[in-house]
Amino acid sequence: MQRYIPYGRQWIDEDDIKAVEEVLRSDYLTTGPKIAEFEQKLIEITGAKYAVAIANGTAALHAACFAAGISAGDEVITTPITFAASANAAFYCGGTPVFADIDSKTYNIDPDDIKRKITRKTKAIIPVHFTGQPCDMEPILKIAEKYGLTIIEDSAHAIGAVYKGQKIGSIADMTTFSFHPVKQITTGEGGAITTNDKQLYERMIMFRSHGITRNGDKMINNEGPWFYEQQSLGYNYRMTDIQAALGISQLGKLDMFIRKRKEYVKIYNNAFGGIEEVIIPEQLDGTESSWHLYIIQLKLERLKKGRKEIYEDLVKEGIGVNVHYIPVYYHPYYQKMGYKKGLCPKAEALYERIITLPLYPKMSRDDVEYVIEKVKKVCVGNRHACSE
Ligand SMILES: *Cc1c(COP(=O)(O)O)cnc(C)c1O
Repeated sequence: MQRYIPYGRQWIDEDDIKAVEEVLRSDYLTTGPKIAEFEQKLIEITGAKYAVAIANGTAALHAACFAAGISAGDEVITTPITFAASANAAFYCGGTPVFADIDSKTYNIDPDDIKRKITRKTKAIIPVHFTGQPCDMEPILKIAEKYGLTIIEDSAHAIGAVYKGQKIGSIADMTTFSFHPVKQITTGEGGAITTNDKQLYERMIMFRSHGITRNGDKMINNEGPWFYEQQSLGYNYRMTDIQAALGISQLGKLDMFIRKRKEYVKIYNNAFGGIEEVIIPEQLDGTESSWHLYIIQLKLERLKKGRKEIYEDLVKEGIGVNVHYIPVYYHPYYQKMGYKKGLCPKAEALYERIITLPLYPKMSRDDVEYVIEKVKKVCVGNRHACSE
């Protein structure tokens, strides 16, 4: 059978299994003690004051947009080079996503283009720490302050990343995380929001569970010990204790997971830095990526084949390549909503040339060498005659 290396996958060990088993044998499968314990761990890891565990990373973005007060007529600025959920969150609340172009070097949202996209309707910015590399937050914070905007960092890729000495999760108003199996740590499905703001925290806690409070001090009419009140429109976005227990166990390995990712990135950079046909990911000074994804850019003018053929050749060699991402507004839903191609030229140009290579801590050194060998074979093998 041919070897196949996926682009990402989880690492579950016996301790994780034991942690989940313990919950299964306990009294609480949901709304139990593991949720607060998981949230406490997230507080320790991010340096934030509050954490809200939630059903998934998409629900985290929805909760954050709700807490920010996004509603009909509001505009939310985000990047097109992200998973659709970052932009969809604005729609969930009746708002409208507006796309700012990227910086061609880091692939992250360009603060200068954020400025150009601000209107009187702008209410929030959702920068995405794409691939795990923090966005340039200083200028973004300045813009937000000047125009009175809320910042929601989509940190689905970036738990454990650092921006100018500060851990991701405690920088702006709110930071959202995803614990899908391809991300740095997993709870199966799962997510969280961190914040330093008590009011935002309380809004999200209620939003996670139907907009209901059981806190007598917060009730408008407390009729007795059985009483609870729905005070806003929320959802059932709760995480289970089964997931939280897995999350606690996984967070204990976060440093090791990121160390492995960094180690493999170094090997990739050394190997691909010398190939004329590819561009390796550039890092902004003062940032420390947690390396969710490793993306190469093809120098198409030096290759005989296009991105699609190179991609297909790599799949044939057993490399589970991927493309992150199709610009969000290319999707038919967005086209139907009136978004036109051409909105963000740098993002669109990047999309034409990128391929995501396998990167996850459970890969072996040998898997890494195998990927390098095949990428070299396919790229160098398709070198344009005039560039030799
Ligand atoms: C994975 C991801 C999400 C969504 O997270 P889920 O847990 O899958 O809902 C949101 N934004 C980005 C950038 C992601 O990569």
